[in-house]
Amino acid sequence: MMSSLDLRGRTLDVRFLRRALPRAEFDVTAALEQVRPICEDVEHRGAAALRDLGERFDGVRPTHLRVPRALLQSALDQLDPDLRAALEESIRRARIVHADQRRTDTSTQVVPGGTVTERWVPVDRVGLYVPGGLAVYPSSVIMNVVPAQLAEVGSLAVASPPQRENVGEFAGYPNPTILAACALLGVDEVYAVGGAQAVAMFAHGFVDDDPQWGEVDGEKVVCDPVSLVTGPGNIWVVAAKRLLKGLIGIDAEAGPTEIAILADDSADPDHVAADLVSQAEHDPLAASVLVTDSEELADATRRSLARRVPATKHSERVTEALEGTQSRIVLVDDVDAGLDVVNAYAAEHLEIQTRDAADVAARVRNAGAVFVGPHSPVSLGDYAAGSNHVLPTAGCACHSSGLSVQSFLRGIHVVDYDEPALRGVARHVVTLAQAEDLPAHGEAVTARFGDEVPS
Ligand code: NAD
Repeated sequence: MMSSLDLRGRTLDVRFLRRALPRAEFDVTAALEQVRPICEDVEHRGAAALRDLGERFDGVRPTHLRVPRALLQSALDQLDPDLRAALEESIRRARIVHADQRRTDTSTQVVPGGTVTERWVPVDRVGLYVPGGLAVYPSSVIMNVVPAQLAEVGSLAVASPPQRENVGEFAGYPNPTILAACALLGVDEVYAVGGAQAVAMFAHGFVDDDPQWGEVDGEKVVCDPVSLVTGPGNIWVVAAKRLLKGLIGIDAEAGPTEIAILADDSADPDHVAADLVSQAEHDPLAASVLVTDSEELADATRRSLARRVPATKHSERVTEALEGTQSRIVLVDDVDAGLDVVNAYAAEHLEIQTRDAADVAARVRNAGAVFVGPHSPVSLGDYAAGSNHVLPTAGCACHSSGLSVQSFLRGIHVVDYDEPALRGVARHVVTLAQAEDLPAHGEAVTARFGDEVPS
């Protein structure tokens, strides 16, 4: 089922590992050309394009693109009490962790009369993407909304694909549990738009001129463009984020999920197999990678997979993911070599199931999130650890972080020098301006001292 990659006896330098490590054949770069016409269509035709694309890709033509407020409340009213309790606990834990993330402004006095302050200012308006293709993700409402609210973002909108299975009052809208999670968190701007078209909608905004469906809650539907789009999604969502980056800010490329497990012979192979399957069920493009120095563990994990995979609900999807080029059992000489591999791979989720797991985890440099020891499976982090589950994929964890309060803030440097403080440094500014052949820079300073360089 899962192919092996035997790296024992190899020199594991980063250049070699980058080429050797498993990645999906169909990647974001390949998807870019497919999403370009989708994004251009939304830019030029707005609401009409969003309805057509919903019909084409989600199998249902949305009527109202914006979800009426009463429907959000109705979804919450009809929510199963156990599910409500689970969502509330997930929200509570996420708030505890994310409340500690907010940075405070810092003011540094460089010289008497000269200060530089870093002010952390929330983005004005954000678009939060909540996936809903192969699976639906009310948990992603929480992971997006909690940090945005704690960052005190003024205006936030959620988009999630309309569900063809919805019936009755929910027909043509996102999954009711997603709507209920929005209501629980007090979010009332929700769009029935998914995939690349949702990212384009947030980037360009739209006005709905449809004579029949263009009004919701007694007002014409107007979606203003956002400054930042966050949230996870499939390969097309990520490709659209990459395509429109610049026009909008993005969090990270949080695409098809990945789990890497670094394990030695102390790990329980059945737990390892269960965790590999748990992430493979997200998407045929999901990656499950086991890195181990134990051939016995590798064999026992295979045996457990052979039992678990046919028995799991999404067996077909899981099989495709585990058999894809992105999933492998990687054999290494020892745990140190395993660390080289997982650091080069930079997984979205990295489990450490070795002896002295906390010490090994402390040596991880590249991962979206690390799960330490036998009792911290990734699915705990997916729902209720308090950590954020919107995490960088496809190696982006070597340069990007998961979603946090910080993702919604910008640090603005505020420079405030008085006359003596400027006088004190003026000759250095002039010298540097001359060295860069930008004399007008120096003149902007000397103009304040009678066109002389102050001594
Ligand atoms: P999704 O909402 O991301 O994607 C569904 C949308 O994809 C549809 O609305 C449709 O518009 C679009 N689409 C489908 N086929 C298309 C095609 N051929 N061309 C263009 N667009 C197309 O939902 P999903 O499919 O269930 O995927 C969710 C993804 O999110 C999974 O890959 C999962 O692993 C990932 N995820 C990632 C993280 C993370 O933080 N990295 C967290 C949770 C989920």
